Amino acid sequence: MRKTLFALFLVLTIWNSHAQTIVDRNPKIEKLVAEVSADSLKKYIYDLAAFNSRHTLSVDDKSGMPAAQRYVLDKFNSFATASNGRMTAEIADFVTPADGRRITADAKVANVIATLKGTDPADDRIFIVSGHLDSRNKDVMDAEGGAPGANDDGSGVAAVIELARVMAKMEFSATVLFVAFTGEEQGLKGATYLADKAKTEGWNIAGVLNNDIVGNSNSSETNISDNTKVRIFSETISLSETEQQAGLRRSISADNDSKSRQLARYIKEVGERYVDQMEVKLIYRSDRFLRGGDQTPFLRNGFTAIRMSEMNENFYHQHENVRMENGIQYGDLPEFMDFEYLRKVSAVNLAAAASLANSAGVPEEVKIDVRGLSNKSILLWNAPALGKVKGYYVLMRETSESMWEKKFFTTETTLTLPYSKDNYFFAVQSVSETGEESLAVIPVPLSR
Ligand SMILES: [Zn+2]
Repeated sequence: MRKTLFALFLVLTIWNSHAQTIVDRNPKIEKLVAEVSADSLKKYIYDLAAFNSRHTLSVDDKSGMPAAQRYVLDKFNSFATASNGRMTAEIADFVTPADGRRITADAKVANVIATLKGTDPADDRIFIVSGHLDSRNKDVMDAEGGAPGANDDGSGVAAVIELARVMAKMEFSATVLFVAFTGEEQGLKGATYLADKAKTEGWNIAGVLNNDIVGNSNSSETNISDNTKVRIFSETISLSETEQQAGLRRSISADNDSKSRQLARYIKEVGERYVDQMEVKLIYRSDRFLRGGDQTPFLRNGFTAIRMSEMNENFYHQHENVRMENGIQYGDLPEFMDFEYLRKVSAVNLAAAASLANSAGVPEEVKIDVRGLSNKSILLWNAPALGKVKGYYVLMRETSESMWEKKFFTTETTLTLPYSKDNYFFAVQSVSETGEESLAVIPVPLSR
C-alpha cells in the first residue's frame, strides 16, 4: 500500500511539474526595462504627495489639483524633447456634470495626457498606460483637507510618468498614450470621458493597462510582506457582450477567454520574461470584490482593459485621514511605500506596453475547422493587416489550465495538431520580425 502510494505520489509530482520556460528577450526592450528607476519613482511620489490635496474638486492653484496637473504636464513636456517631436502633452479639460452623488455641481476637470505617436502611419492602434491623479481622504467630498495619496494613486501616476520618460526615447509602430486620469474617486469621471470620446470618435484602442495602488508590499492586519507578486484583474464575461456574442461564447465554451483575459495572460508572460523576481497573478474578476476602477469605462465601451494592483494592500494607508490613533499611523504617506516593488510593477508595464506597441497586428479570420469529426485540430487564419511578421504561434492549453501551456511556431497560416479540440483550447498570435507577439485571438468554428 505504501509503495503504491509512493508511486502515485511520484506520478502526480511529475504530472504537475511544468516544463522549463525559455527566456528570450529582445535586447532593445530589455534595455528600456533596465532604465526604470526606483529613485525616479520615489522622487515623483514625494513630489505628488507634497501637494496638500489632489482631490478632483480642489481648486487651490498652489497646492491643489491644478498645480498637480501642471507638475505632470511639465514632466511629460521635459521627456518630449527626447522624442524627436513624436511626444506631445496636454491638460485635456472637460466639464463633468453634477450627478447628485460625488459631483454636486457642474465642474471643469481635466486628464493629463502624453501621446507618443507611432512611427507607422498605417498603424492606428493605441495602447494606454494609466493611473489616477486624484486623491481623497476619508470623506470623499472633502476637497480641502490634506490627502497625500502617495500610493492611491500616486503610485500609478508615478509609473505612468516613468514609462513616458523611458519610452519617449524609443520608436514604436503603434501609438502609446500615458494618462493621469482625474475624478476616479468621484465616480471614474476622467476615464469615462476619455473612453466615451474614444468610442464616439472610433479610436482603435487595442489595450488599456490601468494601474491603481501598485506601490506597497505590506498588508494591514495579516502583516504579510512580499514584493514579488502583483495582481492583474481582468473581466471574465465581457461587459459589452451582445446576445450574439454570448451565444458564440457559450457554444465554444470561451468563458475564460475574453479579450481582457488574453491581455492579462500576455502581461503575465511578457512581464515575467523581462522582470526578475516578479510573479504576475491573474485574478478572474474585473476589479476587486464589488469595486471598480478606470479600466471599467473602457470595458463598458468594448475596449480591452485590465487593472494592475499590488498583492498585499494596506488599509491603514488608503482613504484615511493622516493621523495617529492607538499607536497606528494612518494616511496614504510615501514612507509606507516600497519603491523597489513599484519599480518592478512599472517594469512589467513597460515590458508589456513596449512589446505590444512593437508587435504586428493580430492574425485575422482565425478559425478552427469543424467540418468533420477528427482527433486532430486544424487551425487556419490570415496574415495581419498591419506590420510584418516572421511567423505565428499557435497556443494550446488544457481546458482546466489558466495559462497557455504550449506555443507551436509556424511560418504558415494554418497548422494541424494531433490534439483534440474537445480537450484543449487554442489561440493564435502573430510574431513580428523583432520577435514581439501580438495579443492572442481565439478561433471561431469553420463549419462549411
Ligand atoms: Zn485608486
